[in-house]
Amino acid sequence: MYRLGVDLGGTNIVAGLVDESMKIIDKVSCKTNLPRSAESIIEDIAMLCKKVVNQNHLEEAEVASVGVGVPGTANRKTGFVEYANNLGFDDVPFVKLLENQVSWPVYMDNDANAAAWGEYKAGGYKDDSFVMITLGTGIGGGVIIDGKLLRGVNYAGAELGHTTINFQGKPCNCGRVGCFEVYGSATALIEQTRYALEYEAAGENKKKKSLLWKLCGNNLNKVEAKNVFDAVAGGDYFAKKLLDDYTTYLAEGLANVINIFQPSVLCIGGGVSKAGDVLLNPVKEKTNRLIYSKNSAVNTNITIAKHDNDAGIIGAALLGLEGES
Ligand SMILES: [Zn+2]
Repeated sequence: MYRLGVDLGGTNIVAGLVDESMKIIDKVSCKTNLPRSAESIIEDIAMLCKKVVNQNHLEEAEVASVGVGVPGTANRKTGFVEYANNLGFDDVPFVKLLENQVSWPVYMDNDANAAAWGEYKAGGYKDDSFVMITLGTGIGGGVIIDGKLLRGVNYAGAELGHTTINFQGKPCNCGRVGCFEVYGSATALIEQTRYALEYEAAGENKKKKSLLWKLCGNNLNKVEAKNVFDAVAGGDYFAKKLLDDYTTYLAEGLANVINIFQPSVLCIGGGVSKAGDVLLNPVKEKTNRLIYSKNSAVNTNITIAKHDNDAGIIGAALLGLEGES
């Protein structure tokens, strides 16, 4: 039996066909093309689900369920997406709308919860407590305690990106200031890089000599998080300073998470996590200096996700398994 897992993002919608060993057999995608109506987005989700089943020559009866990871507050009890600011969703009867278009039962959860669940299950972690932080456009959080996702009373639990690390800091789109995601997301790293190149490079000549400036094509609008890590590898001074500041912000946010949950594993996922040890090593060192439990014999193992972008699809697919139990 197969299951479908859908990662509904602000840029792309990806539907994956997942087998019983939690492997993705095939996936198809389309652009989210915001802004547009929830109905129109849900039509595309249904189209992608049918497409990936058809192109793998499967009967619809060989697929048990569809699960969708939604970037917002996904109330599993009512089937409504109560709020998804990036998608412009406000009280959308998501499960009903999608079930009207497909022959499979539909399950949904917050996208970061789905990613944490997918990484936890498919990654073969044996630990009872596990937290995944996804560094992307924002910062997503998923918390697993005693082998179960922590969803909160209103399904908005584990929004770890919206915990404050600087209450006099920059504004966040959630309404607070100084949220972890304002300093620690991939978007934040890109903004920090643009700012450094524009204002901190002392004089045009110094900027022009910077490898970071070359890697972004001498264009501030083309800066990517990856440029920083590549420039660090090439020994660039600005990039090293940027990485030092960025990992300092990350450590503040991660230490908060560890102080609250003290999980066995804290796993970092999302695009930025592809940097690997160049990111992980300073983050570990700085976080371990900040945590309350620094003198304990046992501490949280901070690590990089094994399944990266696929975790969200696998976790979404597995929601059906959880929903049936
Ligand atoms: Zn916030």
